[in-house]
Amino acid sequence: MRRILPVDITPERFERALTAFGAIVGKDWVLDDDIDRDAYADAYALGDATTHAPSAAIAPASVEEVQAVLRVANEFGIPLWPISRGKNYGYGGAAPCMPGTLVLDLGRMRRILDVDVRRAYCVVEPGVGFFDLYQFLEQEKLPLWAPMPGNCIGSVLGNALEHGTAYGPHGDRANNFCGMEVVLPDGELIRTGMGAMAGADAWHLFRYSYGPGWDQMFTQSNLGIVTKLGVWLMQEPEAAMELRMELPDEEDIGWVIETLAPLRQAGVIKSQVNIGNFMRYVMGSSQRDDWYRGEGAMPEDIQADIRHQRNVGWWGLEIMLYGYREVIEAEAAVIRRAFAAQTTNEFTTRLWKRGEPRPPFPHYGVPISFPLRIANWISPYGGHLGFSPILPPEREPLLAQLRRSRQMFRDYGFDFYGGFTLGERHVTVVNMLAYDRQDEDMVRRGRELLLALMADAKSRGYSEYRSHLAFMDEVAQSYDFNGHALARLNNKIKDALDPQGILAPGKQGIWPARYRKQG
Ligand code: ADP
Repeated sequence: MRRILPVDITPERFERALTAFGAIVGKDWVLDDDIDRDAYADAYALGDATTHAPSAAIAPASVEEVQAVLRVANEFGIPLWPISRGKNYGYGGAAPCMPGTLVLDLGRMRRILDVDVRRAYCVVEPGVGFFDLYQFLEQEKLPLWAPMPGNCIGSVLGNALEHGTAYGPHGDRANNFCGMEVVLPDGELIRTGMGAMAGADAWHLFRYSYGPGWDQMFTQSNLGIVTKLGVWLMQEPEAAMELRMELPDEEDIGWVIETLAPLRQAGVIKSQVNIGNFMRYVMGSSQRDDWYRGEGAMPEDIQADIRHQRNVGWWGLEIMLYGYREVIEAEAAVIRRAFAAQTTNEFTTRLWKRGEPRPPFPHYGVPISFPLRIANWISPYGGHLGFSPILPPEREPLLAQLRRSRQMFRDYGFDFYGGFTLGERHVTVVNMLAYDRQDEDMVRRGRELLLALMADAKSRGYSEYRSHLAFMDEVAQSYDFNGHALARLNNKIKDALDPQGILAPGKQGIWPARYRKQG
């Protein structure tokens, strides 16, 4: 990919800035050839990847280097896009929102700084991946389990900042970190929570400290570069139980969610519950051609055949329980009783007890990456992108949403991969779109479908919690109470903290004054 620069940066200015960056991070860590740019581009781009092309990348090795980089970026007005491991697949990967932004790759800052077994936390730098953390805990034989997402190729820190979800009781990632270190756009170094006090011992134990809490301001944001994060872990439980059920009908999702929601709210179930349609499993373990070679969405009879051949229901439900054996057994009994009032189907269960080998799944704190395979569903040049609105855990809105999404997927000619993740009081609806990046017509239809899904959800009072770079403005626009008062607040804070507008322009729809469209 050839070099693209921001509209207001001349090539001469950029060259001078790169030389200055090289003096900080070392010439070898200025990544400025076409292959480097390809490596930082969005591998799953729905359309032209140059829409979000990086100009180049630089990779500092320490907090001091990050601070020095910010000083130079302010001096030359060079916009930076910080990434931790850059594996944010489905949301833009390592690529920046605004073309020509320089990627600030923090992957070399990869230390696990502290692991405290009694207090059950770790402190990580941005480059620490889920695999790194798992290996470290295993090698050191530490009885701690880390929250693992469905695909664990990314970083522990980046996933928490992006409001990711994971298995285990600390799976609501943005709600289970504690204490940050942040470099502000002007290069100032701060620590949040109790860490704001020099020599703090309780930095990673209590989130609020004294006065306003700033931590969430640095998640899904372009207001600072997070260089350390305290992450809550689970002490190895005495036992873990997996409860699974296949549900035959599409409409089963209504009663299932209404049965689960009170159990989740009451704390009988303490971690996220995943419900995925059969396509979730099929896309991760086969290719479309294995089943169907026609155009448009797969016909219903082929879908029924898939379920029959794979011996799965319309939905697969999985619930995880962790803790003391007696407590888990009691919780499982309560869950079974609630389900028995609705269905004659039984749960299949797996009980793991401390001392046994752990099943190799993220449910047990063990990382995996094979779900990446869904990108290959249609072609080796595939990609995927999600539409994920937040809904209440109630039958009517969920079924209505499901019916409309399914119909829209069909109308635009896509196979429907749907899932629901039940949080404490909400459901994250996952609609996954898999496509062939080289098929122009499919790419066009994919974009239209996503925009149609967003508009449809918005008209019913719902919106997304996360989005691909290409749709950040659209999603931000949907938060429009009082004439977009939230956007005005975001802009005020952005301009106050980052007057030169150098940090991640456009992230989450927040643009610095310098690049902001008027009106
Ligand atoms: P992953 O952990 O999946 O590899 P990324 O490194 O791609 O995640 O990060 C996802 C997004 O989160 C980035 O595009 C960026 O907007 C934001 N981000 C990641 N790391 C940081 C950080 N250390 N400070 C501020 N924002 C970050």
